[in-house]
Amino acid sequence: MTSTPKIWHATVLTLFPEMFPGPLGVSLAGKALALGLWALEARDIRDSATDRHRSVDDTPAGGGPGMVLRADVLAAAIDAADSAQDRPKDRPRLLMSPRGRPLTQSRVAELAAGSGPMIVCGRFEGVDQRLIEARGLEEVSLGDYVLSGGEIAAMALIDACVRLLPGVMGKLASGADESFSDGLLEYPQYTRPQDFEGRPIPEILLSGDHARVAAWRLAEAEALTRARRPDLWAARQAQTRPVQTRPVQTRPGQKRPKNATDG
Ligand code: SAH
Repeated sequence: MTSTPKIWHATVLTLFPEMFPGPLGVSLAGKALALGLWALEARDIRDSATDRHRSVDDTPAGGGPGMVLRADVLAAAIDAADSAQDRPKDRPRLLMSPRGRPLTQSRVAELAAGSGPMIVCGRFEGVDQRLIEARGLEEVSLGDYVLSGGEIAAMALIDACVRLLPGVMGKLASGADESFSDGLLEYPQYTRPQDFEGRPIPEILLSGDHARVAAWRLAEAEALTRARRPDLWAARQAQTRPVQTRPVQTRPGQKRPKNATDG
């Protein structure tokens, strides 16, 4: 028996399910959602509360401001999401969190290649540490700043994944030229008009010489990356630099033997 391939499916656990699909319901992601190229399920964490007041949070142990999402309520929400659907139990479980590993295009590509993650959105001061450990949540950050909740971060992550799914970007499907795909920021783009407020489109782009255009774009991408993102540049340098082999010792004036092998 062959099982029908399942579409990429994101499950979001949130206190504000009404925020979804939100921006994911328009343009590229929205059209793909309507076409059934991917699926989105937003589940209300509050449905897993057990007390009369449906409370999901409590004051931090040890004191301090704000409220913390309860481990027992979140665990029940995660377990309910797992058993509610025919989803792989081993799908990635993410927690949007400023303490997490910053999201990268390569992690996005991995997530897009899988069956789709479950994503927990924090609120208030965050979530009980024991929940993170007990349910094996991978903390993922959008960047070094603090949002008021995980929902916008989850949307950003889902959007980045969805545009990589087969059929979503049409002709652009590979995204191969884009920023980060080869460790470089993207080269500058231009379109009509040919002259904008006295600024012409770089002539080479109008030359029709594909090889020269490609060389120009690579040089621009490299210059931009070097200037703006020394971290990316250093990583690329480390990756593309040929492996250093130990040269065979030669005395000054002595020629290196033709058949010499290093190491
Ligand atoms: N007190 C926490 C911040 C809580 S902000 C701290 O200092 O680490 C409330 C929620 O917003 C978080 O639980 C998380 O889900 C989300 N959030 C805030 N900033 C984020 C970021 N940079 N990336 C991903 N999620 C973030």
